[in-house]
Amino acid sequence: MTDDTPRTGGSQGYLRIATEEAWATQDLFDAWDRKMAEPGADPGFVGLAGFYTASQAERPQNIKRRLLDLGEERIADMDATGIDRQLLLLTAPGVQVLDTAEGVALARSTNDVLADAIRRHPDRFSGLAAIAPQDPAAAAEELRRGVTELGLSGAVVNSHTQGRYLSDQEYWPIFEAAEALDVPIYIHPTGLPKDMIRPFQEAGLDGAIYGFGVETGLHLLRIITAGVFDRFPKLRIVVGHAGEALPFWLFRLDHMHAATVRAQRYESMKPIKRTISEYMRENVYITTSGMAWEPAIRFCQDVLGADRVLYAMDYPYQYEVDEVRTHDNLGVDAATKKALYQTNAERVFGLGSR
Ligand code: CA
Repeated sequence: MTDDTPRTGGSQGYLRIATEEAWATQDLFDAWDRKMAEPGADPGFVGLAGFYTASQAERPQNIKRRLLDLGEERIADMDATGIDRQLLLLTAPGVQVLDTAEGVALARSTNDVLADAIRRHPDRFSGLAAIAPQDPAAAAEELRRGVTELGLSGAVVNSHTQGRYLSDQEYWPIFEAAEALDVPIYIHPTGLPKDMIRPFQEAGLDGAIYGFGVETGLHLLRIITAGVFDRFPKLRIVVGHAGEALPFWLFRLDHMHAATVRAQRYESMKPIKRTISEYMRENVYITTSGMAWEPAIRFCQDVLGADRVLYAMDYPYQYEVDEVRTHDNLGVDAATKKALYQTNAERVFGLGSR
């Protein structure tokens, strides 16, 4: 009898670091519940958060319980799937749907809870700070506190903040802080903004099946075309889900971006120093969360570089031991596999150096 259950400890030649692993607190769920009860609550927020806080179905209940656990059950699940370390991200939509003062305060208290869990399990957990872009200066300060005082490895932004994007210059203090601290910003999907959601939601396509990727890819594209990486050339942005489809689009994006800039068609699309694909290869990293599919992973490694692609499981939403086996069995050389699972994550998130 052969036992191909993945084990922790690195005997296969690499440690498995999973880089987009979700968690939450009951305080966050309670704040969401209060916000969802307000008249005119945002449909994308209610569609996403309401399902997990209110549904009594088995899948959302299991996910909710696992989101709240930063101890025994989570570590047992990691052991059962051979995950040595999780990088913890506050689950979408995080604090970004809350009123500004509450979002700022809850980001702070949540990061304290995360830092405490990492202190209890330093060899199993790392984490990204939650921030509230509703107040860009406070968000930048919380990122600084999270990195320098709590030992966190960057920040997570659950895509748009109440319909606004980090490409708008009012948010650039967040990028300035990330660049100065030498830590990445992970842009994770969330429920679609109300100006965008209707044609997706009426077909049931607004969530992880498709809408999340479209909106998060749009967010990253807006950041690139707004010239953020010209202003902050050392800034690192991470996105999941095999780059939210952008790697597949690179040829067309480069061609049409150049044509559109030349035509001076949009006030918002000014010349930038490089092509979109160059920024994707120099400032952007992608993870394989929810995309345990060899052709997509190898395509991304091919067009972006093997040093750009990081493993992620997307626990507890995507908790599948077979997906770990898929990554283990990729038809790539040992160095590429180690980069995917371990060394890229260590380098991009500064793991072990903080
Ligand atoms: Ca996720």
